[in-house]
Amino acid sequence: MPSLSSISGPTYVNSQLLVQQTAYKLSDKIFSYSPETFDLDVAVKEWAEANEKNVHGETTTVVPLQTRAGAGAFALGYIFSKDFDLAKRHVPQTLLAPSLSLRHLRSSLDQLALLYGVSSPFVAHVAAADYSAEKGLGADYATALQIAEDLGLALVSSSSAYEVQHMSLLATLLASVLPTLHIYDGIRTARESLRVVDALGEAHIADIYAKISKEAAALNKRLDTAGKVVELLKAFNNELGTSYAPFEYHGHEAPETVLVVFGSAEAQLAKQVASALAAEGKKVGTIVVRVYRPFVEEAFLEVLPASVRQIAVLGQVADAAAVEDANVQSALYSDVLTAVSFTDKLSQAPEVVDVRYAVTDAHTPSSIASIFNKLTSKGEAEPVAFSLTAVEEAQQYVFWDVDNSSAAASASAVGKLLETEQSNNVYVHQTYDNLVQGGVVRTDIRVSQKSIEAPYPVESADVVFVGEEKLLKEIAIVKGVKAGGKLIVRLPNFKEDELEKRIPAAAQKEIQEKGIELYVLDSSSSPALEKEAGLLVDVAFLRVARADITKFDSLSADQTALTEAVNALDQSVRKVEVPAKWAEVENTVAPLVDSVKPNSFVAFQKEEEEETSSLENWQSAAKGFAFKEAYGTQNQLRPDLTVKTYTIKVKENRRLTPTDYDRNIFHIEFDLGDSGLTYNIGEALGIHADNDPEQVLQFIQAYGLNADDLVQVPSREDPAVLETRTVYQSLVQNVDILGKPPKRFFEALAQFATDEEEKKKLERLGSKEGADEFKRLTEEDTVTYVDVLDMFKSAHPDFNDLVRIVDPTKRREYSIASAQAVTPNSVTLMIVVVNWVDTKGRTRYGHATRYLSGLAPGSTITASVKPSVMKLPVKDTAPLIMAGLGTGLAPFRAFVQYRAMQKAQGKEIGSILLYLGSRHQREEYLYGEEWEAYLDAGVITLLGAAFSRDQPEKIYIQDRMRQTVTDIVKAYIKEEGSFYLCGPTWPVPDVTAVLEEAIAAEAQESSRKVDPRKEIERLKEDGRYVLEVY
Ligand SMILES: Cc1cc2nc3c(=O)[nH]c(=O)nc-3n(C[C@H](O)[C@H](O)[C@H](O)COP(=O)(O)OP(=O)(O)OC[C@H]3O[C@@H](n4cnc5c(N)ncnc54)[C@H](O)[C@@H]3O)c2cc1C
Repeated sequence: MPSLSSISGPTYVNSQLLVQQTAYKLSDKIFSYSPETFDLDVAVKEWAEANEKNVHGETTTVVPLQTRAGAGAFALGYIFSKDFDLAKRHVPQTLLAPSLSLRHLRSSLDQLALLYGVSSPFVAHVAAADYSAEKGLGADYATALQIAEDLGLALVSSSSAYEVQHMSLLATLLASVLPTLHIYDGIRTARESLRVVDALGEAHIADIYAKISKEAAALNKRLDTAGKVVELLKAFNNELGTSYAPFEYHGHEAPETVLVVFGSAEAQLAKQVASALAAEGKKVGTIVVRVYRPFVEEAFLEVLPASVRQIAVLGQVADAAAVEDANVQSALYSDVLTAVSFTDKLSQAPEVVDVRYAVTDAHTPSSIASIFNKLTSKGEAEPVAFSLTAVEEAQQYVFWDVDNSSAAASASAVGKLLETEQSNNVYVHQTYDNLVQGGVVRTDIRVSQKSIEAPYPVESADVVFVGEEKLLKEIAIVKGVKAGGKLIVRLPNFKEDELEKRIPAAAQKEIQEKGIELYVLDSSSSPALEKEAGLLVDVAFLRVARADITKFDSLSADQTALTEAVNALDQSVRKVEVPAKWAEVENTVAPLVDSVKPNSFVAFQKEEEEETSSLENWQSAAKGFAFKEAYGTQNQLRPDLTVKTYTIKVKENRRLTPTDYDRNIFHIEFDLGDSGLTYNIGEALGIHADNDPEQVLQFIQAYGLNADDLVQVPSREDPAVLETRTVYQSLVQNVDILGKPPKRFFEALAQFATDEEEKKKLERLGSKEGADEFKRLTEEDTVTYVDVLDMFKSAHPDFNDLVRIVDPTKRREYSIASAQAVTPNSVTLMIVVVNWVDTKGRTRYGHATRYLSGLAPGSTITASVKPSVMKLPVKDTAPLIMAGLGTGLAPFRAFVQYRAMQKAQGKEIGSILLYLGSRHQREEYLYGEEWEAYLDAGVITLLGAAFSRDQPEKIYIQDRMRQTVTDIVKAYIKEEGSFYLCGPTWPVPDVTAVLEEAIAAEAQESSRKVDPRKEIERLKEDGRYVLEVY
């Protein structure tokens, strides 16, 4: 590890080292949650050991902690201990952690946020990195976004190693205002070695911190948190001469399509691709979110060009299932939608779309350009290939090897040698996939005169080295060599006439077609070097890639061995003629995998003992070894994560709409008995619904299963936990067998097809080429997993495999329509049955609404409680203005019940304005008699009901609001009421427009100058403008 003082000016580093440097210099204590192989805290530990001093003149204490349930309590305990030295109150406390730890830290962060007024400044530097045994490693930002939003923390991001020091500093400064998370890519940039030309040294960090801390202390106390953050950012830019902003726009000056992005690689690529496309005249741009929380809507709208017609949000969600689940919205999307919904800046309201991607989806210039292409072509568009000019101009190399190879370290040694050339910027990154060939390591090296930002694997290499010939049979390595590039394959004991046998057919064809120069490295021709072939690989690679380099001294301290390697070169490296007939080779093998997927940060440690007895096959065992900390976490019961569930009994299930009406909306009430379930007003109930037993039995019979066999399946409450159940039970409760199959199911099922035709068809459906067919099957025919298994009878996975490839059932949420203070022993929901007719003419039903609508009184169900943003104002006398469409009225019933109870108790309550909307009064006046009774009793002050189709002209909820705008002015503005809208999203802009009119009217009346849009933003921040849309 470099010493603290050596980090300054031009230096080879990685992001993680720079984060540690800033953290060490500024903190009193560093609490670190670094799984062993993540190495998030190696440098700070060393510096603490060496007694290096921080800016406060002391040695920073490093406290390494374990990631597990309740993690975080230790840090809290220290900050709030009664022995805490109060002279240190102003000194930041720091956390270093991967995003996978955030879940365990949530409750501690929650408490910290609540007690922040008396806490030291607290900053968490979070390496976006999560791990799951199934999906490997992924840069998880979604968890941080969610936690920042839920707990009210600040969240800033770094999009590259070049700015990670600045953002670490900024985050530490923001921590004087509110607890702050700083997030950066933990998979690639955190670990990629590169040269940062202007790294801030110790003294410079101390200086900036001291100056801006002073400005922070002098901030106007009356500013809200967003205002303070903006001011601090200004001070920061002034000091450093930078131009960071909460949102940064790049691209065409009058774009029609704008992509909003958060996250390191995403932001980096989006800004470069958008700028390149704009330079070609395409009307596209991108907004990079640097400060996600507080979400300064004003700043967002300021950078949003007025010409925009379409805003796409590149929103990260947990996994592929969430990408395809139409009910899931990315966190960023909700913010952008809200910001755009009530601006008057844009003459025409832009369309806002959520382009979701999973944590493990890694972006490239092509993937981003394809997103732009799809957005601008309005419809299905083929993916496009796109590359960044600066990256193309760099020299790019890839090394492939198995990780126990004697030459596994060669790539890094070559990288180090190239770094000694002063005019170069060298980027070195390693990816480990421990599930291919017992452990594969891929090393990417880029060498460029200019500094480049390319947070993605090399796609078109000048030279590729393959250290193990077997890899050519499994991975599409040649695809990654550019046309006219060079390929070096290490083939021990090579004989010329065996060339054809040793280079697989698929590779032969591509080598010939792309005009690739082929080199063979045969280390066995030099017996002395055979065992320790690393040096020979180094010099052989350099001879082929960089014949101009003749000085190899820095490769090894053992100069004799080095000379031996150089002398062996002529004998060992051979350029072979590529036979012309290779172009005609028939490739009969299945397509190879494109590349490897990162699933570890280190090589496969084969000597370790298996730790977890519940693992069932060698692959899972391998994953367990590969990443024992995280895998261990995944397999434990996680009491902190598991949603608490309760068993409650149906008391009443009553249809609210006439039986001959096409929409079945019903009221369902549950008896809480002694379940212990408690809920607050505005919260939602999570329902774990069963599959239809009859359809399950039919499937069991048709598929030839035994209903009573015992099997292990993921638990409903936490899919990371396995539970033992019968086949029947698991199909009714755990496995989403009657749900919508995602694309990857077709891909997985293809592996089991024995009929070649079926296999091909399934593969096609699971691939990009079959996108149209897949869409037709799933969106028009709306097939279920069962339907697909029936269509492809030769694909017949056994039950264990089936459970692996079919998603677990997911809970659905419903706003609670009762107040527990009024009905202590029951909970009520109002639900609309989701149904449709499929292309075969079958009536089909939504999973949860079918189950719930059919429940007879006395049936028991499993439920959980989900917190919500819908809260009553603190003051009982504050008016409520509520707007609900259809089932969106549910939470308002709870609000009104509660206020009615207060009134009955003699308390003074604020006025209640209720606006409701549906199609017809006769059929859909939901809880109409209750509202009318509350109106008579003086609980509801104004009832504005809009029945859109009861008269020739359409009347909507916003029309009723506009007719009574003076009542809204009085309740909302003069009497400081709170506004709520629940249900579908579409009325949001129209309804908000009425509220803005009310604000403007009141301002005019009282001769004040008010910007209605800003006023809504303020109201939103104060919890007086609340949306719950689904
Ligand atoms: C905070 C919150 C509060 C909510 N409150 C309420 C409330 O008070 N009342 C209420 O009624 N709802 C409420 N919802 C919505 C509710 O959670 C469910 O989304 C809704 O009831 C549908 O669930 P389902 O399981 O019946 O349908 P799903 O099975 O989830 O189906 C939903 C849609 O997916 C599609 N689909 C399903 N299966 C297939 C298939 N095989 N192929 C292709 N497409 C398919 C269909 O288009 C269908 O319309 C709320 C949601 C949230 C987030």
